[in-house]
Amino acid sequence: MAKARRKAPVGAKKKAESSRWYSAFLWGLIAISVAAIALLVAVAGAFGGSGTAKTSGTVRETASPGASVTATAPPATPATKPSGGSTTPTASPAGTALSADNTPLVRCGDILAPVDKEHRLGEDCAPPDLVTLPGSISAEGAQSLRSETASAIQELFAEARKDGYQLLANSTYRSYATQVQTYNYWVQTSGKEYADRTSARAGHSEHQLGTTADVGTDGHFLESFTGTAAAKWLADNSWKYGFIVSYPEGKEGVTGYAAEPWHIRYVGKDVAARVHASGLTLHEFLLH
Ligand SMILES: [Zn+2]
Repeated sequence: MAKARRKAPVGAKKKAESSRWYSAFLWGLIAISVAAIALLVAVAGAFGGSGTAKTSGTVRETASPGASVTATAPPATPATKPSGGSTTPTASPAGTALSADNTPLVRCGDILAPVDKEHRLGEDCAPPDLVTLPGSISAEGAQSLRSETASAIQELFAEARKDGYQLLANSTYRSYATQVQTYNYWVQTSGKEYADRTSARAGHSEHQLGTTADVGTDGHFLESFTGTAAAKWLADNSWKYGFIVSYPEGKEGVTGYAAEPWHIRYVGKDVAARVHASGLTLHEFLLH
C-alpha cells in the first residue's frame, strides 16, 4: 500500500513533471515557430529586390500596352524579370517615334483622298495593283501606276500624240521610303524652306497613291516643261481622260505648292469633269 501510495504520488509527480515538460516543449515549439517565421520574413526582406521588380514590372505593363506580352512571362520565371524589364523601355520610344507627324491619316487605297500638307498616307500604305508602264511612254527608268490609272494615262498620251505631243511619264508611284529620301535630299541641297515649297514630307505626296504622274516631253521635264505648248495641251485636256493638274499656276496660296504643270492626278473621268467645271483646284474640291 505504502509502496503503492508512495509510488502513486511519485507517478503522479512524474506525470505532473512530464506534463510540465510537455507544455514547456510546446511553448518551445511555438517560440521556435515564431523565430522561424521572423527569420522567413527577414529572408523575404533580403530578397526584396525581386519583389520590387515584380511591382515595377506591373507598373510598366500598364504604362505601355505593348509590354503586355513581356508582362505575362515574368511571374513564371522571376530570374528573367530584369531582362524582360529592360526590353520594355526600348519598345516604348520606338512606338512614340512612329506617331511624330500628327496630321490626320487618310484611307489607304481611296483615289479621292485628300493628300496634302495637312493629310497624309500611312508609312505602310502601298497600292495593291501597280503595273509597269510601257517603256515607250516612260522616261527616267521604269514607271508604275495603279492599273486603272495606267490604262487612262495611255489613252491620254494617245490623244496627245494625235495633236502632235509626245508625252512621257518621268515620275509616277513613289513609296513612303522614297519620299523620305527625296525630301531629305532637297533639305540638304536647297534648304528646308525650298524643300517644303517643292517637295512633300513623307506620306504627304500624291505620288504615294499610285494614281499620280509627272509628265513631260523629251528634253522638257519638271520646270522646263512649264510654258511649253505640251503643258498647255495637258492643262486643257487632261480632265477629259480623268486627270487633274493638282498644282495649277496662280493657285499657290490655295494648294501650298508652287505651280507644277507637269503633275497630274487621276480621279476618274466623272470627278475630273466636275472639278474642271467647278473652277476649283483639286485640293479645294476634295476638301469641300
Ligand atoms: Zn509630281
